[in-house]
Amino acid sequence: MDYELAIIGAGPAGYSAAIYAKRAGINAILFDKAMGGGLANFSPNIENYAGFESITGMDLMEKMKKHASIYTEIKFNEEITDISRNNDHFNIKTMKNEYTSNAVLICTGTEYRKLNAPGEKELQGRGVSYCATCDGFFFKDKKVAVVGGGNSALIESVYLKQIGCKEVNLIHRRDQLRAEKAYEDDAKDKGVVFHFNKVVDRISGDDKVKYLELSDTKSGEKTKLEIDGVFISIGEIPQNEIAKKLGVKIDERGYIVVDKDCRTSVKNVYAAGDITGGLRQVITAAAEGAIAALTSTEAVGKKYPY
Ligand code: NAP
Repeated sequence: MDYELAIIGAGPAGYSAAIYAKRAGINAILFDKAMGGGLANFSPNIENYAGFESITGMDLMEKMKKHASIYTEIKFNEEITDISRNNDHFNIKTMKNEYTSNAVLICTGTEYRKLNAPGEKELQGRGVSYCATCDGFFFKDKKVAVVGGGNSALIESVYLKQIGCKEVNLIHRRDQLRAEKAYEDDAKDKGVVFHFNKVVDRISGDDKVKYLELSDTKSGEKTKLEIDGVFISIGEIPQNEIAKKLGVKIDERGYIVVDKDCRTSVKNVYAAGDITGGLRQVITAAAEGAIAALTSTEAVGKKYPY
């Protein structure tokens, strides 16, 4: 099956690219290894995507999916198993089929970063979670901790309070949050308990999480915090395997290097969204998807009027 553009990853960048590509006359296909939406699915509340004062990540992704499917065929649950260049086109293998394309747009996003604390792996799914939207419900009336000091950690803390967790403790390794002030203020208002300068030495419990063993980074003091669940929210890891296979330049943190038109270092390979680093917002990912799709018209000798 031959396409002009293969878009890999159906998050905000991929969906947006799927809309713009087809409207620019590009015969595109969009692949996703799961059911689409990427990490945005897990955002309990998005308040800064223009046009939506407040919407869950899942709802926004469903709307994008519906919109993108009007224009472009989407292959869900179709992970790319191999990709290579063959002269002027790319060979793409999935578990189900083989495809060729003139251009590739990588929108593979990021995955959750692990804390790598003792007990984390053993107790995952038994009190250790990476997604408050998915698992928060199980901790209604219970005591939880959220590890991290970025926007996600603060938003998730507030969400956990909102759904009825008895106590929400935010554990951050420094005394300065990375999160925006508005999220910090909201968490304070909602009664989230802040623990600054604390690192998690161990997540303890037998069959389920019982407490965190913490160290104070300034005094060295060791403490225990009794909790029923811990949400790890310490950022993301770029999913750059496809970029590496195609020999695309990535930076020291693993994000794909692109120019302002979303071109990578490899001809006819483009990238958009969180995989390119930077702001990593739904709105910027969607914007980059549009830019990349239109730039990719150059790969098939088509033009858009700007
Ligand atoms: P982030 O901004 O990278 O923050 C990660 C947090 O985890 C930081 O506070 C960091 O501490 C901490 N951390 C990292 N590794 C750690 C470790 N090994 N042990 C303990 N703490 C660790 O990640 P994020 O909050 O997931 O956000 C990701 C991106 O999405 C950001 O660009 C963010 O702005 C964006 N985002 C935006 C919104 C929104 O605007 N609505 C919502 C969610 C996310 P340090 O501060 O000490 O480095």
